[in-house]
Amino acid sequence: MKKTIEDLKNLENKVVLVRVDFNVPITNGKVRNDKRIIAALPTIKYLIATKSKIVLFSHLGRVKSEDDKKNKSLKPIAQILQTHLNQVVKFISQTRGNELEQAIKMMENSDVLMLENTRFEDFDKTEVKRESKNDAELGKYWASLGDVFINDAFGTTHRAHASNVGIAKNIKESAIGFLVANELKMLKQGLDHPKRPLISIVGGAKISDKIGIIDALLKKSDKVIICGGMAYTFYVALGHKVGTSLLEGDKVSLAKKYLDQYQDKVVLPIDVAIVKEFKDIKPIYTKGRDIPDDMMGLDIGPKSIALFEKILTNAKTIIWNGPAGVFEMENFSHGTIAICKAIAKLKDAFTLIGGGDSALAAIKLGFEKYFTHISTGGGASLQFMEGKPLPGVEIIQNK
Ligand code: AMP
Repeated sequence: MKKTIEDLKNLENKVVLVRVDFNVPITNGKVRNDKRIIAALPTIKYLIATKSKIVLFSHLGRVKSEDDKKNKSLKPIAQILQTHLNQVVKFISQTRGNELEQAIKMMENSDVLMLENTRFEDFDKTEVKRESKNDAELGKYWASLGDVFINDAFGTTHRAHASNVGIAKNIKESAIGFLVANELKMLKQGLDHPKRPLISIVGGAKISDKIGIIDALLKKSDKVIICGGMAYTFYVALGHKVGTSLLEGDKVSLAKKYLDQYQDKVVLPIDVAIVKEFKDIKPIYTKGRDIPDDMMGLDIGPKSIALFEKILTNAKTIIWNGPAGVFEMENFSHGTIAICKAIAKLKDAFTLIGGGDSALAAIKLGFEKYFTHISTGGGASLQFMEGKPLPGVEIIQNK
């Protein structure tokens, strides 16, 4: 078991380095959505109450040029955090150096300080991606700034970066924060101790991105609904025609293998919303699974919706990763909306979305509150569901 923030004793006077995930959408210096900032508040507020000195680390986007540095400063985020905390958040526009070191030395108990985007370390004349490649010297340096490290950025736990693994490796004491602890608890509950039946839904664009999760979910679930663009490769494996729909020719044999091995578990759509061009226009619906040569499938049809609803009605646990169609276009959002509605009706089921596009879809379509848990980390929750370790968690000390 990993140490959690509540296992840390006597934090008063100590400098606590906290990796948070403030990778929020920003346009022209304006934060468009502050959910991730709000999600980090329990850990920050708890630390303020312990009378420790809190130093926040986060990345924001990718930094590949000097220009990126202009648009990817964490300064506007520090200002928003200040409003949420109702106290000053001192922003230092450096990722290392004298000003930062002095500012940390001057901190009083319960002060909050934030340094500049950790990925500014990924671009300079040296062309070494020090943050993203977990440069040994950088991790050591950052660790030297504090006494304790807390990782509360779930969204980057699947990566070994200097600001998570690098710091944790070089500091005396480390723990996970409330957000990471809750993510792990929820994902474990869904995957390791599910109430049955466990129905999984895997959608999205490609099988190749999700082989690991399809494998893992087929083993654990009672049924796996496969939808979205990846369903057409399964159609071809069954001998159907898919027109100009997404198809991964090199994955047809894998799809066949799944269909043979798990024939009583795999559920595929039985009709398709089809159009001639990739445009947000009214589709027609196929009668069965065959799609005309000059048309493409962009969503599931009404018969599939009815079938999926029926299966989901009995679920006690649902794990969902990937939308049923091109939900970004209204005409092809019906399948994804229908899944959200079917899940919203369930009274006592444990319902989990593994981040990424299906999380975005459920939130955008207004169904967020009906889910037991929507993960804040796409890649991280995918990796966890595949049963692979998360380096940002592994490196944290055990209890
Ligand atoms: P993923 O990131 O793999 O979960 O894929 C999400 C993307 O898959 C979304 O942007 C959807 O628009 C896309 N998608 C879902 N269904 C289809 C489809 N039938 N054809 C093409 N793209 C699709």
